[in-house]
Amino acid sequence: MKTLLVVLDGLSDWPVGELGNKTPLEAAEKSFIDRLASLGAQGYMDPISPGTIPGSDTSHLAIFGIDPRKYYPGRGPFEAIGSGAILNPGDVAFRGNFATVNEDMVVTNRRAGRIDFGLDQLVRDLNSELNKMDFDGVRIELYRGAEHRVAVVLRGHDLSYRVSDTDPHKEGLKVLSSRPLDNDPRSIKTAEVINKFTSWVHRFLTDHKVNRDRVEHGYLPANIILVRGAGMMRKIPRITEHERLNITRPAAISATSLIKGVCRLVGFEVYHPEGATGGLNTRIDVKVDTAIKLLKGNYDLVFLHFKGTDSASHDGKPDAKKRFIEKVSSELSRIFDEFNGEIVIGITGDHTTSSIRREHASDPVPFLVYAPRMFRDSLSTFSERTSRQGGMGRIRGVDLLYLLMDLAEKQDKFGA
Ligand code: ZN
Ligand code: ZN
Repeated sequence: MKTLLVVLDGLSDWPVGELGNKTPLEAAEKSFIDRLASLGAQGYMDPISPGTIPGSDTSHLAIFGIDPRKYYPGRGPFEAIGSGAILNPGDVAFRGNFATVNEDMVVTNRRAGRIDFGLDQLVRDLNSELNKMDFDGVRIELYRGAEHRVAVVLRGHDLSYRVSDTDPHKEGLKVLSSRPLDNDPRSIKTAEVINKFTSWVHRFLTDHKVNRDRVEHGYLPANIILVRGAGMMRKIPRITEHERLNITRPAAISATSLIKGVCRLVGFEVYHPEGATGGLNTRIDVKVDTAIKLLKGNYDLVFLHFKGTDSASHDGKPDAKKRFIEKVSSELSRIFDEFNGEIVIGITGDHTTSSIRREHASDPVPFLVYAPRMFRDSLSTFSERTSRQGGMGRIRGVDLLYLLMDLAEKQDKFGA
């Protein structure tokens, strides 16, 4: 039996006034998902643990059966992976910003005015120079992120992530020197490398044509890269190698670079269908078509990710979130019909994103599972509130795939 896991990013929410004190999930007209609720069972899940506010990256690791507290390498590496880097264990990565400094190295704008004019060109030119050099034997590569963001990757021996930021996190302050956060020679070396890199970047960017053009256009020059959030890549287990979890060939469908990065890292084959945007305007139908194709192919697990729900909450738009859930629900029915119900389906979110707070929250998320043969509960609608009465009770993110693969009758006995 094939298994489909659907994650609507930031699916769960708090009740909001403009939806009559319902959550977007409660307010949504989602006849297919509610039908599945009456055929299946639901419960609620602490993606990481009660009281922990998950990020999308840590939460997805957990949902893929990997304890983020043990394996999460920090935001730097995940941002780099999300921007296209392939990282090896031991690589150190930082989140970075193009920023503007004056002649005294005082940060006058932390995001170079958020103007991305010429930044692709700068990253290309910086990389072709960096390609020819090293800093005390350490190679550095840059990966362009969205807007003013750029990930900075260090490769070499004896690196450490125990170093401080060069980003002062406030305008009007000088660019900081990176300091080792312990007495380990590796931390001392890494901080020195980052400081040399920072001075070099500043010199290189100050004279660059792109910055003369930016100033001519009335934009702030992007004359420094500030780094923060150092993390060291670790070896992360692949989901096909988890003990007592029988997944042989997993595929993932997502248009969000961070999630694609996490999926690739843990061993999914990743598909980004044309028309999938990672936003509210994504082609839900095309993603569902792709899911059907992959489920009919050689994959035993297909992970289908939608980002629109989370984006709507971050923008404070619960009504847009509700409508997005409705569209996903009606498209998902095609998968169920295609397999005549002979399929295992899980639907959940990776965390709560409050449309009021416009940020993630620690509240557990509802999940719904369906299999043709299973104990059902007596609920006929799916929501944050109903899930608290569900037959599956309360679980942790790391349990979810085990639950699904067991419903798919793939699991072996543990013990004699
Ligand atoms: Zn998320
Ligand atoms: Zn989010």
